[in-house]
Amino acid sequence: MNLIDTIPALRKALDDERARGLMVGLVPTMGALHEGHLSLIRRAVAECKVVAVTVFVNPLQFGPAEDLAAYPRRLDDDAALAEAAGATYLFAPSVEEMFPGRTLTTVHVAEVGDALEGASRPGHFDGVATVAAKLFALAGPCRAYFGEKDRQQLEVVRRMAADLSFPVQIVACPTVREVDGLALSSRNAYLSPAERAAAPVLYQALVAGRDLVEQGVTDLTNVGAAMAGVVAAEPAARLDYAEAVPGGDGKVRLYVAAHIGTTRLIDNLEATAP
Ligand code: AMP
Repeated sequence: MNLIDTIPALRKALDDERARGLMVGLVPTMGALHEGHLSLIRRAVAECKVVAVTVFVNPLQFGPAEDLAAYPRRLDDDAALAEAAGATYLFAPSVEEMFPGRTLTTVHVAEVGDALEGASRPGHFDGVATVAAKLFALAGPCRAYFGEKDRQQLEVVRRMAADLSFPVQIVACPTVREVDGLALSSRNAYLSPAERAAAPVLYQALVAGRDLVEQGVTDLTNVGAAMAGVVAAEPAARLDYAEAVPGGDGKVRLYVAAHIGTTRLIDNLEATAP
């Protein structure tokens, strides 16, 4: 695996691979790689001859009171894990390389990013869409792998790529969970043992919501309230939002965000009405 930390070097490497006729897979991450990230890398490796994993803790997507400084950074471990999963390149640029000086350009995806995370974290999806557009611009034509774990982010990025005609095919990958249902997240590392024991309450709320939808409950306000009730019953958790949103495809998507101690976790699940 090749470690790259400059934009021109990544451009040249991926252009050369494409000139050889090879399909490029791109896996954007913020590092502290876990099995969720590795599932994306392995899927990319299975589908693309060349896989570039990016590790960049993107300052644009953190609010002023959020955990940018504390966010785990473990580049040596990440490189070993990405290489073992079959990645060809690890692109780990500095903030200065990605955003030298002031960034005056922002990519904003309206509507898709307004509710839920967008409402709770003002500016978050602008930061996500801006860095994703930049990564797509410098990676060039490729397949880009994103996790369902961050479902709204997936929709924001997919819409941005379509609206701006990036030659990038977005591939959605299923959420990887611990045996007790907790979705893998780099932020799980912040949890104390007691908090870790309480954290599966997000998944339990989603499953309760899914059960209601599958039992034929159609009032989605009631479904959201039931999910909120599950989180409220866990003393270590503080609810941010719990919502059931109708999908265009007749399915219902359930979203939950909660603080466990000082750690903010999100999760989502799909439910199908009978
Ligand atoms: P992050 O490093 O948290 O920005 O995540 C990088 C990519 O990995 C995003 O596309 C996430 O949706 C995806 N991802 C994170 N956690 C999981 C998980 N538990 N299962 C599947 N994909 C994940």
